[in-house]
Amino acid sequence: MADKAGIIICGGGIIGLTIAKELLDKGHKNIVILEKEKKLGEHASGRNSGILHAGIYYSPDSLKARFCLEGNFLMKDYCRKNNIPILESGKVIVAKNEEEIPALEELYNRALKNGAKVEIIDEKKIKTVEPYAKTCRQALFSHYTAVVDPSKVLEALERDLISSGKVMIMKGIEFRELIKDSRLRTNKGSIEFDLFINAAGCYSDKVAHEFGVGYNYKIIPFKGTYKKLKKEKSYLVRGNIYPVPDIRNPFLGVHFTRSIEGTVYIGPTAITALGRENYGILSGIDREVFNIICRNITLLLTDPLFRKTAHSEIKKYIPRFFFEDANSLIESLQLNDIEYCSKVGIRAQLVDWGNKNLVMDFVVLKKGNSLHILNAISPGFTSSMAFAKFIANNL
Ligand SMILES: Cc1cc2nc3c(=O)[nH]c(=O)nc-3n(C[C@H](O)[C@H](O)[C@H](O)COP(=O)(O)OP(=O)(O)OC[C@H]3O[C@@H](n4cnc5c(N)ncnc54)[C@H](O)[C@@H]3O)c2cc1C
Repeated sequence: MADKAGIIICGGGIIGLTIAKELLDKGHKNIVILEKEKKLGEHASGRNSGILHAGIYYSPDSLKARFCLEGNFLMKDYCRKNNIPILESGKVIVAKNEEEIPALEELYNRALKNGAKVEIIDEKKIKTVEPYAKTCRQALFSHYTAVVDPSKVLEALERDLISSGKVMIMKGIEFRELIKDSRLRTNKGSIEFDLFINAAGCYSDKVAHEFGVGYNYKIIPFKGTYKKLKKEKSYLVRGNIYPVPDIRNPFLGVHFTRSIEGTVYIGPTAITALGRENYGILSGIDREVFNIICRNITLLLTDPLFRKTAHSEIKKYIPRFFFEDANSLIESLQLNDIEYCSKVGIRAQLVDWGNKNLVMDFVVLKKGNSLHILNAISPGFTSSMAFAKFIANNL
């Protein structure tokens, strides 16, 4: 256990690792990453869909819009240099019915404003991209969307950081509390720092509160479960097939994604979890469960959009409703073509408790010698390398 660090980064997910890499490139040394798990990628960064998004959904004035596309290019570049496979499959967003066409056009306009390469294609053209996709009259095709294996990216970053000799990744070390302005306590002793960066994912609100900042923000964990297509049916999807989402909420709806190794995943759902690491039915549930339930009840009572989302998402636990969602995107799908999948992730969704709204954008807070990254939700993986440059340039 080091006694002093120049910069401490709390959290060895994609956000913590890319910030460390950027700081290293800028000449910083004596960087310590505290990671409470014994290996990297145990949470969102190792459990996501691996999609490199391409700047479609986000409001043009948001940090997500600012960093998503640049992050997509930087990540692809990094993968090429490190021989990490990329599936440059693009993606189609399909409309279920005539009522979804205006939203599809709105997405097209947003995407253009964000610099994305997109086109509206007709039912004939979509068959050349995704022969089994269903759409009403037209669809949106995104050229730059791609898929990678997130764990390969984490492994390469870990190797780069350690081999520099200037970054120490301390696994199994958990940040517990701030003792005084520049000293913190972990489960294995205390450590002094000049600068502290909070990239603690699902716990980033709690860490920020410890530094006396962001009291109005609380994380509500949302569980994303997946299913998969039976191997013999994986020919139904070549790349990525998405529905038109409700762009007022941060979830994109159940979609199909072909992974690098050829499995076609369906999901993720966005169902309230009972703990920040509640991956199984009961695992990861702790004393906070009562607070989480109370927060959910409050949002159900106060936010009509939350109520609507919760209602439609909870139904996805029932196989028939999950199938209906999936079946609206592709042809020739049968209920028994979909099989169980153990893949599950948890989104660290921030709620602004002042107005009781789900926060849509990344949030960066600064206090004294500490900087806090909250709400690094999707497209956080895609955006990470561009976002990290922004953080390093603005320290
Ligand atoms: C189901 C799902 C699908 C997604 N799909 C995509 C996608 O396709 N494309 C995309 O761009 N994004 C996607 N995302 C979003 C993306 O995964 C996240 O934006 C990104 O992984 C966030 O990275 P992070 O480093 O902030 O969080 P994490 O990966 O959760 O890392 C935070 C780390 O901090 C550690 N930590 C927490 N508290 C402490 C403490 N007190 N002391 C020490 N360490 C601590 C944790 O152990 C963890 O390793 C998805 C997310 C989910 C959940």
